Amino acid sequence: MYIGRFAPSPTGPLHFGSLLAALASCLEARRQGGHWLVRMEDIDPPREMAGAADLILRTLERYGFEWDGPVLYQSRRADAYRAALEELRRGGVLYACRCSRREALEAAAAAHLAPGVYAGTCRSAGHAIDGPGALRVRTDGRVIAFDDRLQGMQRQNLEREVGDFVVRRADGLWAYQLAVVVDDAAQGVTDIVRGSDLLDSTPRQILLQHLLGLPTPTYLHLPVAVNAAGEKLSKQTYAPALPMDNPLPPLWQALTFLGQQPPAELLEGDVPALWRWAVVHWDAATIPATRALPL
Ligand code: GLU
Repeated sequence: MYIGRFAPSPTGPLHFGSLLAALASCLEARRQGGHWLVRMEDIDPPREMAGAADLILRTLERYGFEWDGPVLYQSRRADAYRAALEELRRGGVLYACRCSRREALEAAAAAHLAPGVYAGTCRSAGHAIDGPGALRVRTDGRVIAFDDRLQGMQRQNLEREVGDFVVRRADGLWAYQLAVVVDDAAQGVTDIVRGSDLLDSTPRQILLQHLLGLPTPTYLHLPVAVNAAGEKLSKQTYAPALPMDNPLPPLWQALTFLGQQPPAELLEGDVPALWRWAVVHWDAATIPATRALPL
């Protein structure tokens, strides 16, 4: 059975950008007669806002979303992430890295890699896994290709374009890349619909699925909404919170942004009527196949 999901990080209230991912993932799941889950990705307390998780759930309810089963909170999943880490260690692909940000940047420049790509400096340093430092996964020349349902064939040379990547941070927090893979598998997620800002993370996630013996879901990466300056709508660009008083205009606008053609009368109706129309008429094939679209 089709199982989709929406996986917000509670760093602030929902904005139009997050509504796009919630709406498209939910409508696709409903259209396919599947389940739609909500997972709270609350593994980065320094970036989180007090009360945001509850606010997000209340906003989803107000906007007419109904999820199947209980919300999964990543903050309660440390045992599962630890088990995955242990499996990576047993597979010989995990190592501890003690590079500072500056050392990593200098090593990338010396190796003619793009800034942000990790050059593998600590690969053979033999630092203890249970000692200080971040834990990274070896990419070992891996090239990962996958066929995104919207963006088409994607290919990434992980070692050259990303480098060995962090699965547990030096401050002890779990990396998104590990948590998302473990939980998508634990929840039986078969199909992922999310913003194209995560397209470049997908090969890392597919590599982790291979290393952990987990299935790879299908992926559909939506265009992200950008402002007049071409910046993605996000907390960092001060995207406004979704209004609680009148959900219809943002819902209608989100459907339109996603290439659907909701009739104007829906704006005069109510939220259940808009959903009834959307579930019947939703067609993923008409979503614009681009990474970004101005709002
Ligand atoms: N929690 C991530 C975010 O809010 C999304 C994770 C995902 O959809 O894979 O950006």
